[in-house]
Amino acid sequence: TLPDDCPPDVEVLGRSTWTFLHTLTASYPPTASPTQQTEMRQFLSLFSKLYPCWVCAEDFQQWMKREGNEPRVRGRGELGRWMCEAHNEVNRKLGKSEFDCERWEERWRTGWADGRCD
Ligand code: FAD
Repeated sequence: TLPDDCPPDVEVLGRSTWTFLHTLTASYPPTASPTQQTEMRQFLSLFSKLYPCWVCAEDFQQWMKREGNEPRVRGRGELGRWMCEAHNEVNRKLGKSEFDCERWEERWRTGWADGRCD
């Protein structure tokens, strides 16, 4: 790994971006208003075009367009699931292990049940 005052490589950028995306999801309301849903859809669409790793962005856009993979934005529960599935798609592509999506909220919102994040 590079010293942390160097420009990010694909891994550093990816880790930081997933932190942002899952945290954004964790702060999304349990039930989103029509405006919030529209804004989230717009954000994800633009994000998938502008993400500054072009091969990553291209694959992510293609995945989002596939039947059944459209962003689910009605509320935090389903958006969190969706984001976890999106991240798992990249994990699979890179040969990383999949994350148990039942637990996304413990990882990114509430902290683990054993209290180690309190
Ligand atoms: P990361 O995958 O960055 O994960 C960070 C932490 O998130 C993990 O430690 C874990 O606690 C948690 N986590 C893991 N999986 C999930 C999940 N499914 N749901 C919730 N939390 C989870 N890299 C490439 O080399 N090629 C690509 O094409 C590519 N595409 C990308 C597309 C996007 C949209 C993004 C944001 C990143 C992409 N990356 C890509 C980067 C890649 O996903 C990783 O971020 C990078 O390889 C560093 O991996 P990591 O092992 O540190 O953990």
